[in-house]
Amino acid sequence: MDLLNTLVEKGLRRELPTREEALAVLATSDDDLLEVVAAAGKVRRQWFGRRVKLNYLVNLKSGLCPEDCSYCSQRLGSKAEILKYTWLKPDEASEAAAAGVAGGAKRVCLVASGRGPTDRDVDRVSKTIEAIKEQNEDVEVCACLGLLSQGQAERLRDAGADAYNHNLNTSEGTYGDITTTHTYADRVDTVHQAQAAGLSACSGLIAGMGESDTDLVDVVFSLRELDPDSVPVNFLIPFEGTPLAKEWNLTPQRCLRILAMVRFVCPDVEVRLAGGREVHLRSMQPLALNLVNSIFLGDYLTSEGQAGQADLDMIADAGFEVEGAETTTLPKHRQGGGCGSVCGGESSDAPAEAPAEVRAEAGAARTDLVSVRRRGAGTDLAPNA
Ligand code: SF4
Repeated sequence: MDLLNTLVEKGLRRELPTREEALAVLATSDDDLLEVVAAAGKVRRQWFGRRVKLNYLVNLKSGLCPEDCSYCSQRLGSKAEILKYTWLKPDEASEAAAAGVAGGAKRVCLVASGRGPTDRDVDRVSKTIEAIKEQNEDVEVCACLGLLSQGQAERLRDAGADAYNHNLNTSEGTYGDITTTHTYADRVDTVHQAQAAGLSACSGLIAGMGESDTDLVDVVFSLRELDPDSVPVNFLIPFEGTPLAKEWNLTPQRCLRILAMVRFVCPDVEVRLAGGREVHLRSMQPLALNLVNSIFLGDYLTSEGQAGQADLDMIADAGFEVEGAETTTLPKHRQGGGCGSVCGGESSDAPAEAPAEVRAEAGAARTDLVSVRRRGAGTDLAPNA
């Protein structure tokens, strides 16, 4: 297929595809799916070999959020029966993080619900980061605490944080349909603050919220422009008790096409398969390892993932290897931030108009696959790692 040959050549050169090409990936048929995966897999292997980075989530503070993000089980007014607890103590968080590191994770992601941290919260998280680094000097720590105020990114960096996550989630055009209590611009500003403080930026998206193909391409191109080092791709987990509970819009094939598109647009960036992997890809998860170079190990913030050992077995069975602490995730030209000189802008042949919309295929509701997290951080039960 000419499209795929072009995209592979561009990906190997770190050149941005056109919007039309990105849309065409999403519009490919199931008959072409393996060719799409193979093509994006060539780009993935060029920049990341067969390595898979494992990341481990620690939910420092769960539920009770005053914001209204429609996709989130922790939102204002959520009826989802998730764990609700306030800040974990530094030793509790450190214990949870240690389980992830013992399971093979090289990055620990410290996440707290809420609009953004107070300065006291930043103190708390700083103590937690110090406690984790004391136990595991080499582990990368990423903080995800919401919208940052002036000076907070610097304080987290000084406490030892390596990275900051704040997702764009969806396109600028649809952001107001998903959340009303903060804006897309607020989110972009926080990513910029993290970058300005010298933190490695992590920013991604959620697919499956009823968005169009154009919206998906828009958010991925916006992410490319923002130039984070890692891009988590979440697939909506339609939690009962949230406004998006009925949005079962994804099939495994659609998820693979989305991941392939993200890989072509962000060829040399850490693309991480995040929440919703088990729910939407199901038995097709191993194929996704050809597209992403990073996944979460074990459970998510408020839902349970497959057993940590099953993640490790899947990686080995598919012929991939867990990335060790001694290996730097990003290719050499990206180390130290930024994407290097080649990928500065969109190709000159980018069309002004996107082709007609292609409707997302609907997946069957699989509420049986959504399990609220009942173990690990905030409980007396051992974490899944
Ligand atoms: S995504 Fe974050 S800010 Fe939005 S409702 Fe959930 S916890 Fe709150």
